[in-house]
Amino acid sequence: MEDSQFDVIIIGAGVMGSSTAYQATKRGLKTLLLEQFDFLHHRGSSHGESRTIRTTYLQPHYYPLVIQSFKLWKEAQAQVGYDVYFKAQHFDMGQFNDPTIRAVVENCHKHNIPHQLLNHQQVAEKFAGKFNLPENWVGLSTEHGGILKPTKAVAMFQTLAYKNGAVLKDNTKVTDIINDNGVVVLTSSGEKFRGKKCVVTVGAWANKLIKRISGFEIPIQPVETHVCYWRIKQGHEGKFVIGGDFPTFASFGKAYVYGTPTLEFPGLIKVAVHGGRLCDPDKRPWGSVVMMNELKEWIDGRFGGIVDSSEPVVKQSCMYSMTPDEDFVIDFLGGEFGKNVVLGVGFSGHGFKMAPVIGKILSELVVDGETNEVDLKHFRIGRFQMTSKI
Ligand SMILES: Cc1cc2nc3c(=O)[nH]c(=O)nc-3n(C[C@H](O)[C@H](O)[C@H](O)COP(=O)(O)OP(=O)(O)OC[C@H]3O[C@@H](n4cnc5c(N)ncnc54)[C@H](O)[C@@H]3O)c2cc1C
Repeated sequence: MEDSQFDVIIIGAGVMGSSTAYQATKRGLKTLLLEQFDFLHHRGSSHGESRTIRTTYLQPHYYPLVIQSFKLWKEAQAQVGYDVYFKAQHFDMGQFNDPTIRAVVENCHKHNIPHQLLNHQQVAEKFAGKFNLPENWVGLSTEHGGILKPTKAVAMFQTLAYKNGAVLKDNTKVTDIINDNGVVVLTSSGEKFRGKKCVVTVGAWANKLIKRISGFEIPIQPVETHVCYWRIKQGHEGKFVIGGDFPTFASFGKAYVYGTPTLEFPGLIKVAVHGGRLCDPDKRPWGSVVMMNELKEWIDGRFGGIVDSSEPVVKQSCMYSMTPDEDFVIDFLGGEFGKNVVLGVGFSGHGFKMAPVIGKILSELVVDGETNEVDLKHFRIGRFQMTSKI
């Protein structure tokens, strides 16, 4: 494959790169997808058993992206012939005067998202006592929620891309990208691929690769985080199963706690804290769960003793790539590369749900040089003060 010429070379086969590869082949592009590790490995951000999809956001620009993604998830799973999306309601909770809850309610109004704002008694009635909220808390319930199966979804996009003619190559680490009448992509084993354009979707490795190619550092911090699964006490397991009234959920306060109904592990419920520790993606600490005491306290308080909070029975480690404002980076690299290198990085722990539309946007930037899906001003690299590290 030495010196092969592609329309687009996509670097990084997590959910973003795999979705982009699928979208690029739909646009008829001769596509190459490169991954440094085995496909479907567990060392990045897109592996595991569940991700939440919800429309409720503090920042209004995510609403259209999530709404479009619901549609695109369903289209892709119809193409492949199996499901990666499992429907549930979504439920946010927090103190009645919590600014996030207030902003989310306002955004639901603005974007015509059907929702119910409930006091603690109404919450107890709606969910038959499964959530115990303090008197000064409120809950916000919407129909637009559910679980996505991450590893299965990445496999789905790779399968669809492959069926459409993409070349998929794993255990191929990209070490450099050179601007030469298009791009030349070099790998650690000495291979060389030519492309008209290139898309960089390297997750937590973004800073390393972008600094290497451009000399500039984008403020994207890799963070090691964990999901935890807790045992539901005997006799109560059925209350939390997906398909009933139990929702995907998020709780705002001292700790941002989130979780999903039982789907992947019978008898267990996923409840985790959005947070972690800075890390080097190539020297992972595989460390302990942050804010464990707050998490246990939350489980005791909210589930009224029917979930065993003594210890999580399953823990899985994963990485976020955090930007300072937690907005994504979707832009051209610019400089000598102009529009030849497109970046899709910095998904800040909340990108999975939007992967289908992000793949579409990235492939539009490759083909058309622009997108109508969203105003890219929220995602441009120009919003950061970037300094040359050369
Ligand atoms: C615990 C956890 C819970 C989450 N929960 C949610 C949720 O509920 N809802 C939601 O929407 N989002 C959630 N997210 C966020 C979401 O999973 C991520 O935003 C998304 O998976 C990011 O995908 P990615 O493709 O950018 O990164 P990755 O999946 O890490 O993919 C990047 C790929 O690039 C490869 N790569 C890197 N460097 C190179 C190189 N030089 N050459 C070749 N390949 C390279 C890597 O090996 C990797 O496979 C969660 C994330 C975590 C960790």
